[in-house]
Amino acid sequence: MNVTTHKGTALVTGASSGIGAVYADRLARRGYGLILVARNRERLDQLASRLTDATRRSIEVVAADLCSKADVRRVEEVLRTDSSITMLVNNAGVGGAGPLLVSDPDKMEAMIDLNVTALTRLTYAIASKFVERGTGTIVNIASMVAVAPEVLNGVYGGTKAFVLAFTQSLHHELLDKGVRAQAVLPGATRTDFWDVAGHPVENLPESIVMSADDLVDAALAGLDQGELATVPSLPDVADWNAFESARAALRPNLSSSKPAARYGVRTAA
Ligand code: NAP
Repeated sequence: MNVTTHKGTALVTGASSGIGAVYADRLARRGYGLILVARNRERLDQLASRLTDATRRSIEVVAADLCSKADVRRVEEVLRTDSSITMLVNNAGVGGAGPLLVSDPDKMEAMIDLNVTALTRLTYAIASKFVERGTGTIVNIASMVAVAPEVLNGVYGGTKAFVLAFTQSLHHELLDKGVRAQAVLPGATRTDFWDVAGHPVENLPESIVMSADDLVDAALAGLDQGELATVPSLPDVADWNAFESARAALRPNLSSSKPAARYGVRTAA
């Protein structure tokens, strides 16, 4: 399918497979040029060539290891200097299925480098540009574990809770400046993620595993509908709204000069 409208360029991290590759496909078909980022250049080149043939969009490949500071700086530079960029999809990420205590701390650190530090730096690189232009979209791929950190590895859950909280804060600061932020909270999705995490997806009940195609189509529909947080599996959005309302209801009482009475602390008069 060839699309005539041009919507600027979307930079998609982790585009060499899974969810990121589907984002690349869907965004090209929606009229975006693409900058595809991941480590595996061969897979990126293959995807770029297939999508160029299918959509005639301009597609660039940047091979980068987002655990490497130098490589992250290189991608930041692209975001700062390419004024055609209108969308950033922070999708690259790794998970883990093992319990905290048996997980290698070096691997946990690398997970934080990718899922948190790289995502934050890339967002910083583009956010001020989008604000200057009064437009732009930042899509951050979180996970259901952002609100269910007891599932899978706890550091993974912590990184995705960061992605959700960071996106909520971006939304709060940037919406009135014309910049959109969306957090996507996929449940189990059929991709290489599970092999990399050491827990083959075949071990999960089929009823809880979504295809990457359906996941991205739902996430983009959520973006079109103006959602801040999109939970593709959740049947009733009222459940998410109730969760958010409960969070908002806590707010007036989260900071006080006095400890709560139940702690029995005798405060100075
Ligand atoms: P995937 O197929 O394994 O894709 C991960 C992508 O990240 C690949 O393109 C990989 O490419 C890239 N990547 C990994 N390490 C990288 C690094 N150091 N530098 C640059 N790129 C790197 O898994 P996926 O399911 O599509 O994952 C995409 C996102 O969805 C992740 O953030 C994940 O946490 C999230 N998610 C997935 C699920 C699920 O069940 N699959 C559920 C919730 C959330 P290279 O290997 O070429 O670098």
